[in-house]
Amino acid sequence: MNNFIATDEPSDPIHLVVKFYACLLLAGFAFVPAYLIGYLYFFQDPTLLFENHTFHVIAITAATLEGLFVTYVTWCCYQSSGDPLLRWMTLGFLGFVMIYALHGAFTGFAHSNIWLFLLYGPASRLVMAILLLVGMLSYNRPPDAADQRTKPRPWLIWIGLFLLVDLAVAFVANSSIAGNLAVRLSLEGGALVFSALNVVMLLLRRFRSPLMVIFAISVTAFALSSLAFILGRPWNHMWWLAHAIFAAGFFLLSYGVAQAFLSTRSFSKIYSQGELMVRLAESMAYAESALRELQRTNQELGHLAATDPLTGADNRRRFMERVDAEIDRAKRSGVPFSVLALDLDNFKSINDRFGHQVGDDILKRFVQECLESIRPYDGVARVGGEEFMILLPQTSLEGAQVIAERLRSSIATTSFNISQQRLTRVTVSIGVSQSGRDGDSIEEILRVADQRLYDAKHQGRNCVVTSIKTSLQPQS
Ligand code: GH3
Ligand code: MG
Ligand code: MG
Repeated sequence: MNNFIATDEPSDPIHLVVKFYACLLLAGFAFVPAYLIGYLYFFQDPTLLFENHTFHVIAITAATLEGLFVTYVTWCCYQSSGDPLLRWMTLGFLGFVMIYALHGAFTGFAHSNIWLFLLYGPASRLVMAILLLVGMLSYNRPPDAADQRTKPRPWLIWIGLFLLVDLAVAFVANSSIAGNLAVRLSLEGGALVFSALNVVMLLLRRFRSPLMVIFAISVTAFALSSLAFILGRPWNHMWWLAHAIFAAGFFLLSYGVAQAFLSTRSFSKIYSQGELMVRLAESMAYAESALRELQRTNQELGHLAATDPLTGADNRRRFMERVDAEIDRAKRSGVPFSVLALDLDNFKSINDRFGHQVGDDILKRFVQECLESIRPYDGVARVGGEEFMILLPQTSLEGAQVIAERLRSSIATTSFNISQQRLTRVTVSIGVSQSGRDGDSIEEILRVADQRLYDAKHQGRNCVVTSIKTSLQPQS
């Protein structure tokens, strides 16, 4: 059952080593930007500048459009799942876009008012880092109610707040404190601290889902991009690298959003491959056992539908099916089959004398006697109150007569228990017919058997009749 998932125990030393190695790989991957930062920091001339306003405007415009698209996709996921993390992510992306767009828009002010140009960058990253942190802390919380998700008011309030941040940044950029390095450093440092807090909290809370791994790598990139911004100077290579690192983090996080959109639309309901395999194995085991149970129930139902509840003998419907099949088989093989029609004699008086319950017990016992007298593949069916039929495959009329006589005799000589001391005798009359000789259709064969049973009653009961004229007389 579990052969498609790794079967070694999670406590296995090699399992632990591989798990540790996988974690190291992830950490190594998350810190790729740090190697680049180190390389530029130690080996690049920080005075080398690439000041290209058009390129910057195009890049920020592209980032703004991409950011708007990701905001929309995240919002769609949130509308569908109500995942609070996705609500905060939508706000984080929206806030980032609404503030960061002005960083591109004011590129032309790079010389006239550098702070108006520069401060929107760290401000946008700070706002996003704070909102992502709040979102991450709400991971796994119950989903928001459906009517809450669509209410425009909270969204409009947030949009108003982001516009206020835009105004505040413009105000600071035009004020005397703008030139103060502490302003820029506190914004960028704040973004760094909140992104780093995100990473630390993620590690502490030990989230293992693949989307949260993506989230962790993305916020690590955001933290490192803030570090690169702090180390860089406008237009130098570290400054451009910082943009690229941030973009990489943003792309990765939006990849996570796309994965959520294309699957469960929730960050918390996407499982790791290992978890998925375990869940799949559990579901398959459950489905298999449910299927087995269903098959068993079906068999039981089939048996119940084909069985007489009192005696356990086949019912009329089942008997007819078997005779039908036997007619086909007899036609193919040319070997006939026979049918016995049985009716207990004077059964009404047994009921009258001993009660219905005793009558029932005698019927059950009678079926047992029949089963003991016939072959395993012969079938006994209860077709009426105290009327039965027996199918004898591959048996001629002569053979059937012998079996019928043996059965009649064994019933006649059996003592049926009435109560602990009292015994009674029961007799049965039997009519016999054979396929081919007495007819080819089910109706003909059964009609002839019934007719002979009727004759047996007329001939004094407790006898077997195989033709209209001849009959075996009861043995004394
Ligand atoms: P005959 O020899 O002519 O067959 O006489 P009989 O009394 O057996 O025939 P009749 O058809 O008059 O009566 C059949 C009786 O079988 C009537 C009914 O009380 C009884 N009987 C039918 N079904 C059941 C049953 O499920 N349990 C019991 N205890 N008796 C039943
Ligand atoms: Mg009867
Ligand atoms: Mg009877």
